Amino acid sequence: MYRSAIYDEPLLIELESKIKDIPEKVLPLSLQRKEKANIPDLDETQIVRHFLRLSQMNYGIESGIYPLGSCTMKYNPKICEEIAKWDCFAMTHPCQDESTIQGNLQILYELEQMLCEITGMHSFTLQPAAGAQGEFTGLLLAKTYHDFNKDFNRNEIILPDTSHGTNPASATMAGYKIIEIPSTKEGTVDLEILEKTLSEKTACFMLTNPNTLGIFEFDILKISKMVHAKGALLYYDGANINAIMGKARPGDMGFDIVHLNLHKTFSTPHGGGGPGAGPIGVKKKFERFLPIPRIVKKNDKYHFNYDHESIGKVKAYYGNFSVLLKAYIYILLMGNNGLKETSEVAVLNSNYMKKKIVDSKKYKLPYKDLRKHEFVISCEHLRQERGIRALDVAKRLLDYGLHPPTIYFPLIVKEALMIEPTESESKKNLDKYVETLIKIAEEDKETVKNAPNNTSVKRVDEADAVKNPILTWKSLQRYK
Ligand SMILES: *Cc1c(COP(=O)(O)O)cnc(C)c1O
Repeated sequence: MYRSAIYDEPLLIELESKIKDIPEKVLPLSLQRKEKANIPDLDETQIVRHFLRLSQMNYGIESGIYPLGSCTMKYNPKICEEIAKWDCFAMTHPCQDESTIQGNLQILYELEQMLCEITGMHSFTLQPAAGAQGEFTGLLLAKTYHDFNKDFNRNEIILPDTSHGTNPASATMAGYKIIEIPSTKEGTVDLEILEKTLSEKTACFMLTNPNTLGIFEFDILKISKMVHAKGALLYYDGANINAIMGKARPGDMGFDIVHLNLHKTFSTPHGGGGPGAGPIGVKKKFERFLPIPRIVKKNDKYHFNYDHESIGKVKAYYGNFSVLLKAYIYILLMGNNGLKETSEVAVLNSNYMKKKIVDSKKYKLPYKDLRKHEFVISCEHLRQERGIRALDVAKRLLDYGLHPPTIYFPLIVKEALMIEPTESESKKNLDKYVETLIKIAEEDKETVKNAPNNTSVKRVDEADAVKNPILTWKSLQRYK
């Protein structure tokens, strides 16, 4: 044990003997290890330095810009984390009687209303734990709705070729056949092709607006009319609502069902698969099918209502409470004007960066010029002329201490770099990022192809990582 002159020796001895007692009290002797554990014998200083060093090898939003297009990796106010840690929230148990968690229920109830206001929808469920689970839930709602109307032949979902990968995945899981339609030269929905593809078999048209190229679908009202005229529904992938808050609402655009990614737009640090919340908002006619329980307010008290026809439950208890709580605090903190300004600055930052990059002529901008909160550039010409790929540029950014953007998505852009600066970066940071991208495009091929040079992990074998993932410590043995 670590000893220092400032410790009181008798106290330390007492502490040591207490610690020695603990194992026998908590673990039966039969289950205890007979030999000393085969772990390094290190003192506290070494351990602290080891873990600090490990944490420094990581890169997070608090280390610098993290412009992962489509993922909205923005700064999340610390106050949200702080409040979520308060005992009154963190120590509530999901099985507590509802009379003892009225405050929590009130927060959930009010959050549902706030999300209705932001999106122009009639009601929300907060249950789904991710965008993808929201999509799945939304599509089950669509299916239940069509079945309810005895409209049993609608087994197709139409998607544009810019759609996020989770869209076709969720639709397939919900039992649908996927029909992908190509975008126009402008990078938007091709109305003619959509018209031809829609039929009495279409259950839903799933759309992201602005789409994943960062382009707003200006024909959205026409699209909505066309889809509804065929008796189909319009689904909104609202993972990217960071672009339009306080400016436009999917409900007003004619969408029937929407999901939001609270962990992206509404302040929860996320990555590596969680934690998340993908609430679903619907127009009035779908409300009856929303997952149970619904939170209702009666005589100034909040209750869980299990008593309505519904698609059932999609998540244990009532969703990821701490993520929902942080979204609630974030929305209160920002207020109407704050949310609007968030989107304005996110869009401004994105267009500022895009213009600087396009002006440099080092990267190409496919499709329309004006973008929302994100934009996609291509380095296909770098590949053709010099063999430098999007992956190489991304790896080289690491050498400059910058997190790369999303690459190779959306699929319709060759050698794509998808950049979403968000509202929380300074002009200085945006300038530095653009200058670095320009510099990389001018560097010699070998330097860029061999990057990263000064990170602790060099290039990994991407194919091997996918084909032979190391999922437990046992598979590590392979590399011994
Ligand atoms: C992130 C994202 C999703 C999926 O959300 P998850 O929470 O990762 O499941 C869906 N659509 C778009 C456009 C996204 O950016």
